[in-house]
Amino acid sequence: MSQAENPFISLAAPWIAGLTPYVPGKPVSELERELGIRDSVKLASNENPLGPGLRAREAMTALLSELGRYPDGAGFELRRTLADYHGLSPAAVTLGNGSNDVLDLIARVFLQPETESVFSEHAFAVYPLAIQSVGARARMAQACDFGHDLTAMAALVTDATRVVWIANPNNPTGTWLAAGPLKSFIGSLPKRCIVVVDEAYTEYVADPEFPNATHWVETFPNLIVTRTFSKAHGLAALRIGYALSDPRIADLLNRVRQPFNVNALGQVAATAAINDREHVRASVELNQAGMKQLTTAFARLGLSYIPSVGNFVTVDCGRPAAPLNDALLKRGVIVRPLANYGMPNHLRISIGLESENARFIAAFEDVLA
Ligand SMILES: *Cc1c(COP(=O)(O)O)cnc(C)c1O
Repeated sequence: MSQAENPFISLAAPWIAGLTPYVPGKPVSELERELGIRDSVKLASNENPLGPGLRAREAMTALLSELGRYPDGAGFELRRTLADYHGLSPAAVTLGNGSNDVLDLIARVFLQPETESVFSEHAFAVYPLAIQSVGARARMAQACDFGHDLTAMAALVTDATRVVWIANPNNPTGTWLAAGPLKSFIGSLPKRCIVVVDEAYTEYVADPEFPNATHWVETFPNLIVTRTFSKAHGLAALRIGYALSDPRIADLLNRVRQPFNVNALGQVAATAAINDREHVRASVELNQAGMKQLTTAFARLGLSYIPSVGNFVTVDCGRPAAPLNDALLKRGVIVRPLANYGMPNHLRISIGLESENARFIAAFEDVLA
């Protein structure tokens, strides 16, 4: 909305007036309502096509009769379970309404006008939004081969820098940083500079060089690692994520956290899901097969794609992707255009069930022709 349409803009903080809201993947129900179609498939938000595992489903069913009560505001059981899982103290865990919530808490605690925050070109769109929502200055480093360029990021760090954001693997590119360079980068930052390593897709990565930054939390007091239950654990609708950090950082994050930010169903489902290795294994296996299915199709169509270790793959359409995206929508296939990530020729496709991937491939061939 412009100033003419919304006169309240002049009352908002100036950095809020300039904000453009995050655009989520289109819900199936919205597309079907708009076009009067049915049987659409959504491969647009990197959700787990298997959904919640059995253990999480059972835990939620058992809780239904308790939903008249507020959840445990401290999330005691979940925080203890996560602490055990990671070999850290419960005081190191901060719960979020999705890891997006945690990213916001970090911005609210450590950023303000006149401070700066560094992120990478083509990195997760929530970082610049979190920075701008508190009036700090966003400094974007050029990417290298669509991935984070740690040298370029280090070059943007100044005395005013308070938070550096890294997605590993990155969304929407599926690129990743190896343990050695990432650890040196973190160690090279000034101690007054918080570094966030966002590991939303970590469960999908098998490469031995891929780091587990949660192992470094006790080495680097300025490190915050975020994880989520929205991807490999299949609990996106429940909105549950967390941060691991030095307890003194967790103390600050908890000062701005809303007392009941993680709902009761989310707490019991996540407590059950974190140790459901079988569900994660099945999800990762399905993802590997689906990744092969999609990349084989791209190769056959002569299209290049960014090699991805996540549960999504980003393809270069070789021409503006927006019209192709519109044509896919008309065929009931929802994927993610990336113009707002500075990638107008690319589409990001989340890996779905085999049948959903096949629906996408057939529709994509059709609209390309
Ligand atoms: C999906 C995603 C998240 C997780 O979001 P939730 O709020 O936990 O659902 C965080 N970071 C990145 C890079 C993501 O792609």
